[in-house]
Amino acid sequence: MNVSGWGRYPRGATRLITARRPADLDGLLTDGPLIARGAGRAYGDAAIGPCATLAMGGLDRMMAFDPASGVLTVEAGVMLGDVVAAFLPRGYFPPVVPGTRFVTIGGMVASHIHGKNHHAVGGFGRHVTGLTLLGPDGVASVCSPAENPELFRATIGGMGLTGVILDVSFKMLPVETGFIRQETIVARNLDAALAAFEQARGWTYVVAWIDALATGASLGRSLIYLGEHARRDEVGDARSAPPRPARAIPVDFPNFTLNRLTVSAFNAAYFQAGLWKQGEQIVPVHPYFFPLDGIGDWNRVYGARGFVQHQCVIPKAHGRQALGEILELVSARGSPSFVSVLKLLGPDNAGLMGFPMEGYTLALDFPASHQTLDLLTEIDRRLIGYGGRLYLTKDARQSRETLVAGYPNLPAFRALRKNTGADSRFVSLLSERLAL
Ligand SMILES: Cc1cc2nc3c(=O)[nH]c(=O)nc-3n(C[C@H](O)[C@H](O)[C@H](O)COP(=O)(O)OP(=O)(O)OC[C@H]3O[C@@H](n4cnc5c(N)ncnc54)[C@H](O)[C@@H]3O)c2cc1C
Repeated sequence: MNVSGWGRYPRGATRLITARRPADLDGLLTDGPLIARGAGRAYGDAAIGPCATLAMGGLDRMMAFDPASGVLTVEAGVMLGDVVAAFLPRGYFPPVVPGTRFVTIGGMVASHIHGKNHHAVGGFGRHVTGLTLLGPDGVASVCSPAENPELFRATIGGMGLTGVILDVSFKMLPVETGFIRQETIVARNLDAALAAFEQARGWTYVVAWIDALATGASLGRSLIYLGEHARRDEVGDARSAPPRPARAIPVDFPNFTLNRLTVSAFNAAYFQAGLWKQGEQIVPVHPYFFPLDGIGDWNRVYGARGFVQHQCVIPKAHGRQALGEILELVSARGSPSFVSVLKLLGPDNAGLMGFPMEGYTLALDFPASHQTLDLLTEIDRRLIGYGGRLYLTKDARQSRETLVAGYPNLPAFRALRKNTGADSRFVSLLSERLAL
């Protein structure tokens, strides 16, 4: 069948195998190479096997919880949203979450995802105390910082290319309420935004929505959302609210819907609305962490051609210069980036191929087109010059040169894959494209 990631670009023909019990995996690896797939929220080609794709969503049991340590053990196909639904009422929240709750825990480990708190606590893999990995020989082994540490580190952010993650144990965060104390800051340009990031270092959660089409004195204008888990005494009479059921986008938008004019108008209105929201508010966790989950299938706004996300990280020292150049390129070409997000990342060496490094990460979404691909190649050229790298779980088009320049541990990762035999058993369109 034809399968794609969240960006719906590219699509690949693959044999889809569904695992419902660990026993379904017995003998599977002798049938030829495959790649594990969680909820398919990676944007590009990471979870598509050129031969076979192993859907893990059926392995979705929560196995154990230890209230003394806060460690939760789940099968890899458990959805993040289900963990939040089961544990928030009990006073626990996952230590790190991405911008959507519709991802599996296995996918979060394989991507070593980062949240709005990366500068404070690192990526998800840093909170994993152990996992079980089905290796290329069909044998399951326990990996942790103490047991098989090299394999553990290669699996964190390893994009499913070291084996199939069967279960994961990770430490949950105790919280008093299901609310966030949010402060909204308006930054009128990029310098103001970066200054606000510096001042916000004491906050646990920091993220900025950035107007990627603003130009001149307004280049980089942003709304910055700071957050802390609210204490019981701060919540007052705020009512606990379950996530709103998603309203789905019923059809693909026509290709002309998202253009410079419509996105500029939306951005201007959103920025103005932000002026009214300045200051502190108490907000439920779901709209704070997962703002787009309220719109089901929002990837359809980019039309049937699909879209690509370009998420880079730039070392702090070059941050201002590189971000300014990237935003100038985007606004000069008039490329309509609808969802544009800026975050601060802290140092991180939890995963051999992990994306995060200390610096600024900018994520931009563009409709898939020749113009977009040309623009992104130009951005990558600058990015390499500044020592930056691209996020594999968002990638659909970077070149091997960009990868080599951005990931210094690539030779060690390739050697581990070769030595364990994983290179011939675990193969995705991503690993073929980039010779991972
Ligand atoms: C709206 C949106 C917002 C996002 N926000 C963020 C964010 O803030 N921060 C961030 O870091 N990421 C973010 N992401 C990316 C997302 O968190 C990752 O792509 C995540 O890995 C998706 O999980 P999944 O279960 O859908 O995995 P898939 O997309 O199915 O797979 C992703 C990778 O994990 C591997 N994999 C999946 N399951 C297993 C398994 N059991 N064993 C081995 N390998 C496996 C796959 O082979 C693939 O390489 C966002 C994505 C979306 C759509």
